[in-house]
Amino acid sequence: MSATDVLEVLARALGELARADEPLGARTTYRVGGPAALWVDVDDEETLDAVHRALAAVGEPVPLLVVGKGSNLLVADAGFQGLALGLGPRLAEIEIADHVVRAGGAAGMPVAARRSAAAGLRGLEWAVGVPGSVGGALRMNAGGHGSDTAGTLWRYRTFDLAAGVPREHASLDFRPRYRHSSLGPADVVVWAEFSLRPGDVGEAEALVADIVRWRRRHQPGGSNAGSVFTNPPQAAAGELIERCALKGRRLGSAEVSAKHANFIQADEGGSADDVRRLLDLVRTVVAEQTGVVLVPELLLVGFADTPSPTVRAASRSGQPSTSARGAGDGAGG
Ligand SMILES: Cc1cc2nc3c(=O)[nH]c(=O)nc-3n(C[C@H](O)[C@H](O)[C@H](O)COP(=O)(O)OP(=O)(O)OC[C@H]3O[C@@H](n4cnc5c(N)ncnc54)[C@H](O)[C@@H]3O)c2cc1C
Repeated sequence: MSATDVLEVLARALGELARADEPLGARTTYRVGGPAALWVDVDDEETLDAVHRALAAVGEPVPLLVVGKGSNLLVADAGFQGLALGLGPRLAEIEIADHVVRAGGAAGMPVAARRSAAAGLRGLEWAVGVPGSVGGALRMNAGGHGSDTAGTLWRYRTFDLAAGVPREHASLDFRPRYRHSSLGPADVVVWAEFSLRPGDVGEAEALVADIVRWRRRHQPGGSNAGSVFTNPPQAAAGELIERCALKGRRLGSAEVSAKHANFIQADEGGSADDVRRLLDLVRTVVAEQTGVVLVPELLLVGFADTPSPTVRAASRSGQPSTSARGAGDGAGG
């Protein structure tokens, strides 16, 4: 089947669950880029199960993207030719019991950080500066201010869209690395639990306020997705970019931030392709002048040379599903 045929069959299998040509730019902090061919709002595991059954009915690899707060995504102007999922408010709840904070996959990390601090729990304050969701933080092993997601992660629940099963994991399964985790493209984070240290509310809230002040002083506002490149062992990426006199460098509607060289800003109404061209230019100049090849931390979606991860689902019986209609039916059950 061609890629277009795969999406057509999937659209039929998803039925009313899916919307076509959903704009993605507004769902990212860059606020640029084109639409997703198919979009599904997910507010519970039943919907994830229905998506699994639709994928199994197609039986072919489907490009799949879970969109969190979109704070680490650059979606090409041509858009994303695949299925994008967004988690809704029912998966954004936060509960605190004793010293454990359970946050839904769609909950904001800054909200989890503030709620934990207000409850006198220590260890998640760093997350107030990361404008992503819990799911995005797990996928990226987001971190800052000397800590990261793995630091306090205790347990988490995923739904495996390939196998169609939910799984609960101990933190040992997480296998964190710098801005990487063991989560695969088929794994949707439903919730995560962080095990924190009981402490002083005043001290926790003061640290949160300090981090917010530090961010305001050192990082630009506007449309960006934080650090564009991971820090190589040699030096901070921003330092290398600055050394190459690229601070403030502009290409079309994109500019290397004059405040922090590892941030690329997009103008309002700008173009994702301009951001991408500037990212490539920075990489080339830094490689030529310093010998260091920078690796993007930003996830590039829908560009011709950045193939999207695909998911191929098998029906739970292990048999290829033959009924596209059956897969989309019963989305609520
Ligand atoms: C101003 C600014 C500052 C930043 N500072 C930092 C920082 O200090 N440290 C840092 O690490 N990052 C930082 N970032 C980057 C970004 O906030 C993190 O990478 C964050 O973890 C991304 O979360 P998200 O929900 O926005 O994910 P998205 O950008 O939407 O997606 C990122 C990845 O996570 C996956 N994903 C999202 N939700 C789920 C889910 N529920 N289940 C499974 N996979 C999911 C996506 O499929 C994608 O692969 C910054 C960004 C900005 C804009």
